[in-house]
This record gives sequence, C-alpha cells and structure tokens, in this order.
Amino acid sequence: MRRIYLDYAATTPTHPEVAKTMLPHFTEAFGNPSSIYACGQEAKGAIEEARANVANLIDAQDEEIVFTSGGTEADNFAIKGVADANGSKGNHIITTAIEHHAVLETCHFLETKGFRVTYLPVDEHGLVAIEDVRKAITNQTILISVMQANNEIGTNEPIAEIGKIARETGIYFHTDAVQTIGHIPISVDELGVDLLSMSAHKFYGPKGVGVLYIRKGTKLLPFMHGGEQERGRRASTENVPGIVGFGRAVELAQQEMSEETERITYLRDKLINGLLGQIDHTRLNGHPTHRLPNNVNVSIAFAEGESMCLGLDLEGICASTGSACSSGSLEASHVLLALGLPHEQAHASLRFSLGKWNTEEEIDRVLEVLPQIVARLRAMSPLLKSHE
Ligand code: PLP
Repeated sequence: MRRIYLDYAATTPTHPEVAKTMLPHFTEAFGNPSSIYACGQEAKGAIEEARANVANLIDAQDEEIVFTSGGTEADNFAIKGVADANGSKGNHIITTAIEHHAVLETCHFLETKGFRVTYLPVDEHGLVAIEDVRKAITNQTILISVMQANNEIGTNEPIAEIGKIARETGIYFHTDAVQTIGHIPISVDELGVDLLSMSAHKFYGPKGVGVLYIRKGTKLLPFMHGGEQERGRRASTENVPGIVGFGRAVELAQQEMSEETERITYLRDKLINGLLGQIDHTRLNGHPTHRLPNNVNVSIAFAEGESMCLGLDLEGICASTGSACSSGSLEASHVLLALGLPHEQAHASLRFSLGKWNTEEEIDRVLEVLPQIVARLRAMSPLLKSHE
C-alpha cells in the first residue's frame, strides 16, 4: 500500500538535497568549529554560510541569528531570556491561549517564579484582537509573545499590527514562526519583532536544529552557559551537519516558495471544499482566508478524531487529530477549546497538513476514503442516534 503523508506540520522528510549537503559534515568535514586548524575553520565557514542564508531569508543581520536545538529551545530561550534579563523592569508577560506548548509551558513555569502572564483569548477563527493586546499592557509588561501562525488550525495572527503596538510601548515582541518559516515570506522589520523562533524539520530540514533571531540590542540572558559558541549566547559545540542542513533548506525554500504555495493552496482548497461538501455536519476550524497555505482542520460531528485517524492509517493515510504533542492524549486540544468549540466537536477534529510531495490524486483518495470511514463510525455512534 502506498503511504499518503498529510502531516507535514508535525514534521517533514528531510529534502534529499539537504541530506546530501549535510553528509560530508558527519565524515570528512567533521572538525570542531572552535578549532583553529583548517578542518575546524572549514566547519566554522559552513556554519557562517548557513547563518547568512537564514539572515537573508528574514531580512536580518548575520549576528542576529543564533542556532539552537530546535523550535522548543528557541521559544524557551526567548521567553526565559527576556524574563531573566528584564525582571527588574517588570514581571508581566502577554501571550495567547493558543500558543504551542513550548511557549505555554515556559510561561506556566515563569508563573511559578513570580511572573504574571496574560493569556489572551481568540475569536471563533483563532484570531487575536489587537485591542485585547493593547488593553492587556501594563507598566510591568516586559514581553509580548504571539505565534505567527497556529500549528493546529493554521490561522495567521496579525503580527505586524501587534509589532507596531510593541514598538510604540517599548515592549519586547517575540513570535513563534516555526510553522511559517520557509513557507511564507518573512521580514523581521516589517513584522516589528525582536525575537523570532524557527525550526528546520518543518520545512524539509533535519530534526534537532532551530534558530532564535535576536534583534541587535535586545537584552536577554544566555540560555546555555559554557563555551563561547554563538557569541556566548548559546554554549555547546555546534551541530554542524544540522546547521548546514538548515542553511540548505532555507536556500531551497527561497527558490520554491511562491510556486509551491500556489500548488499547495489549490490542493488545500480542494480538500476543504471536498470535505465540507461530501460529509455533512462538518466544520472548518481556523480562519477561512487568513490561514497557512497547507493547513486543513475540520471537526466532523458524531465521529471521533482518533477513530478517524486510525481508519485513515489502515488505508495508509497519515493525518493527525491536532498537534503531534497532544495526539495520543485524551485531552481535547487547547486550541480548539479556545475557539469556543464544545468538547465533542474538539474531539471530532482532524488536521491534514500538506507538503511538497502531495499530489492531486492523493487528495482525491482522501476524499474517497474518509466519507466511508465517517459513515461507518457514525453508524455506531450513540451521539448521532440521540441527535436524530
Ligand atoms: N512551535 C510550534 C508552533 C510548533 O509547531 C512546534 C513543533 O511542532 C514547535 C514550536 C516545537 O519545535 P521543535 O519540534 O523544533 O522543538
């Protein structure tokens, strides 16, 4: 059976070109970038090339790019780093109720250390209201952290507008761009952000490598203490193959982004329209237009998300019930609950996230198979019987 992979928001395969570029850095070009002899300096050169690629992608300067072990570390670094360095100025952080756990759990941790956190609500499409951001600001606020696009429902947040408020009020602004980097164009100046988190494995790079963009002049404490790597901001011998892979993934994204976005958007819309048209009692979650080009999230009433996922898996189709971190848990998605969905609808959700190797035939296959799975599940559903 041919596998149909529709979970690119959880992770992407490493692009063969990326893997090829990384390979020599495991074997012949293995030097430590801190070593002064030639093969160390060769590794250092490769890192700096990757750093320049990342900086170029987001209109930043090379020295504003710090490599990390992934998106989670970048989020932790940004939030704890600002909190630790600016605690004397204030103890208030503003974020949203729909952030990834990497942000939410970091904020929960800081609450145990005496920080106060405002978790802004979102509307039924997952959008944060600019006015709510403005109203939440106090003279104690040191950081605003709002994700650029949500990983479960794909809603794009009004980052540039929030950036303006952050600038006017002199508050640091962080955005988690893990789901957008390499997929949509990003300029840190246009967005008005001081800190921006990225991860390579969401856009055809390897797992275990990320970046935190840190605007020059931003006051934050180093996340890892030790050696002087990354200008003293992130100690530990660099993950050279991973960083090189990040840099190559950036190059490929820049070449392919606009064409790929058009192709994926067409497939996304075909899938959304097919699901809404063919399966009754189906609702699209997330914003109808301000959404990632590759995200489809639906609630299919009277069918349970995990059961639909397993049914799809038996047909060789990989989809998810929400974020990879929360699937497998019986708790309803915090994102869907924040939209105001009742628990039954939140449990009846499926996320498809499309990518480079999906074809129209694959979308047709999902539209052929899923209505049958739903019909089978609904035939057994006591909820549907009580509704009728
Ligand atoms: N932030 C968002 C929005 C994500 O989707 C993810 C991964 O799913 C992360 C952060 C964590 O990234 P990583 O897996 O690189 O730690």
